[in-house]
Amino acid sequence: MMNSRYFHPESLMMSHGYKPALSEGAIKCPIFQTSTFVFNSAEEGKAFFEVAYGQREKQPNEELGLIYSRLNNPDLQILEERLCLWDEADECAVFESGMSAISTVMLEFLRPGDVILYSKPVYGGTDHFVNKVLPQYGIKGIGFTSLQSESDILEMIDAYGAKDKVKLVYVETPANPTNALFDLELCRKVADKLATEEKEVVVCVDNTYMGPLWQHPLKHGADLVVYSATKYIGGHSDLIAGAVLGKQKYMQRVRTLRTFLGNMAGPWTGWLLMRSLETLKVRMQQQAENAVKVADFLADHPKVEKVYYLGHLKEGTEQYQIFKKQLSCAGAMVSFDVKGGEQEAFKFLNSLKLIKLAVSLGSTESLAEHPATMTHSDVSIEDKQAMGISAKLVRLSIGVEHHADIIWDIEQALERC
Ligand SMILES: *Cc1c(COP(=O)(O)O)cnc(C)c1O
Repeated sequence: MMNSRYFHPESLMMSHGYKPALSEGAIKCPIFQTSTFVFNSAEEGKAFFEVAYGQREKQPNEELGLIYSRLNNPDLQILEERLCLWDEADECAVFESGMSAISTVMLEFLRPGDVILYSKPVYGGTDHFVNKVLPQYGIKGIGFTSLQSESDILEMIDAYGAKDKVKLVYVETPANPTNALFDLELCRKVADKLATEEKEVVVCVDNTYMGPLWQHPLKHGADLVVYSATKYIGGHSDLIAGAVLGKQKYMQRVRTLRTFLGNMAGPWTGWLLMRSLETLKVRMQQQAENAVKVADFLADHPKVEKVYYLGHLKEGTEQYQIFKKQLSCAGAMVSFDVKGGEQEAFKFLNSLKLIKLAVSLGSTESLAEHPATMTHSDVSIEDKQAMGISAKLVRLSIGVEHHADIIWDIEQALERC
C-alpha cells in the first residue's frame, strides 16, 4: 500500500529491504560482521529453525529472525532482495564466486547417470567443471552450438541415446568471447520435449555478459539465472562473488545445498555488492555507450579483420532476430580479429597504455585479453576452430573512461601491430 507507485529497480537500489530503525537510523545497511544471532527466547529459536529447515511453512504474518550467518545475514538477505528486482525473480541466493553458484546448481539438479546439455562455448571454468569434474560423478555433458536448430539438437541427443537422461539445459548467451547468441525460447522447447512425467528438465542461463540489466532470461523461459557477480554486478574488479535467481521451487533447493556446502558470500562481500548495485545502471549504460564508439572505430580500421559486436549484427539474420527478441542493448563486450596472428595480437596487447591487460570483464576500467591463450586456453583445438576463437582474436571489456581516451589507446596500439 505504501508503494502505490511502481518504482524502477535503479530507484530502489539505495533503500529496498533495509529498515534504518533496526540499525540506529544508519542510512546505509551496516556490515553485520557476525557469525551468529541472539534469540529473544528459546521458543523463537525453535520457530526460526522449523522454517529454515523446511519443517513447516512460514505463517502469513510471521516475522522471521536471523539464526547463523551460513543460513542468513542481513548483508546477504537485503542484497538478494535487491537483485531480485532487476530480473523479477522470486528468490535469489548469493555465493562466494560465480563458479560456486554454477557448480551448486549443477550438483543440485544432476545425479549419476544424468546428462547436462550445454551451449558451446561456455566460460572456461564452467567447461572444466562439465567436462572434467562432473564425469567423475557419472554425469555426462553434451554440447550444442548456436548454429544448431531445435531438430538438430534433438537428433544429436537421440544419437547419443541420451533422451531420457537430460536433466539440465545450461545456456550461456551471449557466448564468451564471440558474442554468439542462443535462442532461449528454442532452449525451453528442447527442454520441454525432453521432459517426461517422471523427470523435469530445468533450464539455467548464465547471464553474466548482460548483467541483470539488458537481458532477463526468466522472461524467455529459463527457470534459473546465474551470474558471476565478480563482473558487471560487482563492477570494480575488487571482489569475487556469484548469484543464482529464479522460481521459488528451484531456489529452495539451491539455497538448501548452499547451506550445507557453506559456499555463501560473507557479509563484507554482500556489503560491497550493495554499494555496487547503487551505480549498476549508470555504469553499464556508460560502458555500453563507449562500446558503440569503440566498435565503430574498430570496424573502420585497416588493421582489423573482423569485429564481434552485437550492435553490428546484420538485419534479417537469425542472430539479429534473437538479439531483437532477447536483448535491450548490445552490451559493452567487443572482440575483434587483428590482421595477422598471435604475434600481432600480442603486440597490440603489449602496447596498450590505458587499457589493462587482464582477464575478467564488466569493471569500471577497460580490460583486454587474448582468449585463445588465456580464458579459453583449455578449450579443445577443434572447438576453438569451430567457434572462431583463433590466435588473432582479442577481447575487450569496455569501461567507463572517456571514450576518446579508450580509442586513442587502441589506435596507438594497433599502429604497432
Ligand atoms: C567469470 C565468469 C564466471 C565465473 O565467475 P567467478 O566469479 O570468476 O567464479 C562464469 N561465467 C561467466 C560468463 C564469467 O564471465
